[in-house]
Amino acid sequence: MLPFKLVYSEKYFLPIGEHVFRADKYRMIRQRLFSLGVVDESDFLEPRFASESEVMLVHSPHYINKLMEGSLTAREELQMEIPYSPQVVDTFMLHTGGSILAAERALVDGACVNIGGGFHHAFPDHGEGFCMLHDVAVAIRSLQKRKLIQRAMTVDCDVHQGNGTAAIFGGASRQTGTLPSAHQGSVFGLSGGNMRQGNSKDVFTISLHQENNYPLVKPPSSIDVNLPDGCGDDEYLAWLDNALSSGLRQFEPELICYFAGADPFGEDQLGGLNLTMDGLKQRDELVFRVAEAREIPVMVTFAGGYAIRVEDTVSIHTNTILEAAETFHKADTRMAE
Ligand SMILES: [Zn+2]
Repeated sequence: MLPFKLVYSEKYFLPIGEHVFRADKYRMIRQRLFSLGVVDESDFLEPRFASESEVMLVHSPHYINKLMEGSLTAREELQMEIPYSPQVVDTFMLHTGGSILAAERALVDGACVNIGGGFHHAFPDHGEGFCMLHDVAVAIRSLQKRKLIQRAMTVDCDVHQGNGTAAIFGGASRQTGTLPSAHQGSVFGLSGGNMRQGNSKDVFTISLHQENNYPLVKPPSSIDVNLPDGCGDDEYLAWLDNALSSGLRQFEPELICYFAGADPFGEDQLGGLNLTMDGLKQRDELVFRVAEAREIPVMVTFAGGYAIRVEDTVSIHTNTILEAAETFHKADTRMAE
């Protein structure tokens, strides 16, 4: 029923106990889609587990061995902020396999959503902030290795900066400077935010995030938009539009990897921006429209979302799928005419 596939497994549930990261959100999104009557079983693809050699396209063998042997130090486990178990490792391997599949399918169908993934705080040699493996980076490197793509762009709209993504793909150079557009902030009626950019090679990384939030140290992305506390819909959307236009002026990706975090929402427990549910829908629509208009395939992962009411997190993620369906359905209709 949808113009693209959804990648999902019942085994996406992370066995991490009582946690602000509600790992049951994935199952709830699937249920919501069915109760809205917008999907049937044929819309779903079952992911496979990523292999050790695939995750080692991004992660160090030393780190992967530690995960496989269960030999993380107490400090490393603390930094991850989720309890270690072999089952948790398996679950991350499955989300990573899901993101590889979603990236492959996006190239075929123009879009694909992994109802999971987006673990942008994972580094080559360690995990952080609920993220053990960087599923999206592995997917990009896997596609590049197989020569399915050469260049990818990450568009990270989680409220937290994509520090793992930036560290992996190295967005910065010595010439890193403030974009002219940052000086013209008043033109857009923007205040408080700022945008910085550096050079990029085969992966161009864009991150829009709250400046005064985790991670404390923010390795430079190709474009970082540091947003002020309490930033609302209009300001956020103007910055996103600005960052996308600027990124696509200098880089021609063959795939966009969109991190559709639900945590810029005003009622998020771990975020300090002030987007409304409608503003988040407009955010999704903007990303999808830009990708569709330029015929750039887009793969979506969900990243964070910690609303006071888990139902709100589920609504925001579900809306992302509905917005994608609307944009890509319209595109299908146009092609058929
Ligand atoms: Zn987040």
